[in-house]
Amino acid sequence: SDLASLMNVTVNEVISTCMSLGMFVSINQRLDAEAITIITDEFGFDVSFTTADEDVEIIEETDVAEDLLDRAPIVTIMGHVDHGKTSLLDYIRDSKVTEGEAGGITQHIGAYDVTTKDGKKIAFLDTPGHEAFTAMRARGAKITDVVIIVVAADDNVMPQTKEAINHAQVAEVPIVIAINKIDKPHANPDKIKEELSQMNILVEDWGGKYQCQEVSAKTGQGVEELLEKVLLEAELLELKANPEKNAVGTVIEASLDKGRGYLTTLMIQGGTLKIGDVLLAGPHYGKVKAMFDYRGNKLKEVGPSTPVQMLGLDGAPQAGDRFNVMDTEREAREIANKREQILREQSVRTKKHITLDEIGRRLAVGNFKELNVIIKGDVDGSIEALGDSLLKLSTEEVQVNIIHKGVGQISESDVLLASASDAVIIGFQVRPSSGARRIAENEEIEIRLYSIIYDAINEIKDAMEGLLEPTE
Ligand code: GDP
Repeated sequence: SDLASLMNVTVNEVISTCMSLGMFVSINQRLDAEAITIITDEFGFDVSFTTADEDVEIIEETDVAEDLLDRAPIVTIMGHVDHGKTSLLDYIRDSKVTEGEAGGITQHIGAYDVTTKDGKKIAFLDTPGHEAFTAMRARGAKITDVVIIVVAADDNVMPQTKEAINHAQVAEVPIVIAINKIDKPHANPDKIKEELSQMNILVEDWGGKYQCQEVSAKTGQGVEELLEKVLLEAELLELKANPEKNAVGTVIEASLDKGRGYLTTLMIQGGTLKIGDVLLAGPHYGKVKAMFDYRGNKLKEVGPSTPVQMLGLDGAPQAGDRFNVMDTEREAREIANKREQILREQSVRTKKHITLDEIGRRLAVGNFKELNVIIKGDVDGSIEALGDSLLKLSTEEVQVNIIHKGVGQISESDVLLASASDAVIIGFQVRPSSGARRIAENEEIEIRLYSIIYDAINEIKDAMEGLLEPTE
């Protein structure tokens, strides 16, 4: 109805045009941007979208080159369970508390920063693991500059090692390998390098491009060298930020402290955050009342690549939410309220991720170019066979990408990866875990389960030709 009046035509004309395009709509139905584009085109209009969210989106100023200064890298540690992620994070943090800054007891606020012996800074996100990393990415947050993949030298390259490498590669974040536990008698770093090479991760001393360091999170051996390698990798990225502006960055975590109110850990990515600044983070806002580092020391100002815990927001934003500093409290409140309202509306809105049924429609609109697929199966052989066959379905119009495949049930991290990369998940003779199913429902990720390879291939082939019978 709104669209009809904008184009100065009758509602019936719009509805019948929709029908001729294969869309069955009602008078008060919300149309998405793609549908609006085709319909208006039929009526000879050009549309330009000022996104519906325009008044809740903060347009961030782009920095001019001369304002940019070097900034420290932000690092995430990932790897298989028990390979020593937490120990390494703890060792780095504890060994870097120099006298004089000892301050209070170190607290887990979700991130910390250290200074190496050459005076260089590195910030770490201290929720190890690729689930947190990918959950952030799924929310559009890009914080990690370098990933450290930890592999225990007395074990093997494990499924989660592969998964972590895969997640880092999909995110195009450079990787440094840390072969841990080399203090152990059965440590065999060469075996790890060999196994890594089998998955195309060739370390430097084997002529490859991946920096690799043998470390012990227990004795600290090699840790300083590991940090140097991280800094070297970061140097190539030429990381810069402008400290002289209102702060912007990402929410790392948030909690409610009964006595003090909402405690929010932020990673500052540009500008400087000061006490008294009016902060807007997701659907929440408030004046910065106090700021602390991970040792509980009070801070007045915090610059780029520094994690900080702050008090003053009126609620708990989600990890991965962007934050901005606003000029007035009124402006912040208005935007926060609108965002809250949009979030409420969105929870009853339509799908945002790709499904096989949806492909036909997107093909018709002409904006479907790639189908990202994650394959999980019970045995390697069938996963390979299925993967190869799906790749062969690629046409000139649609490219099939297998962004991840592996043996085992469909896990939460598979679903998060699908959400971050807009992929569908194919399960062959496996099912999703209950956690994975729950997230898939929330994130609206399609999981298709098959027990016959032929069926899987045929259904995807049909979908890619826009022929799939809708299931709903
Ligand atoms: P995470 O699951 O990857 O976070 O692994 P943890 O950091 O919890 O480590 C798992 C176990 O390995 C713990 O018992 C650690 O004490 C032990 N560990 C971790 N790093 C080392 C190391 O470098 N040497 C030895 N000997 N043990 C380690």
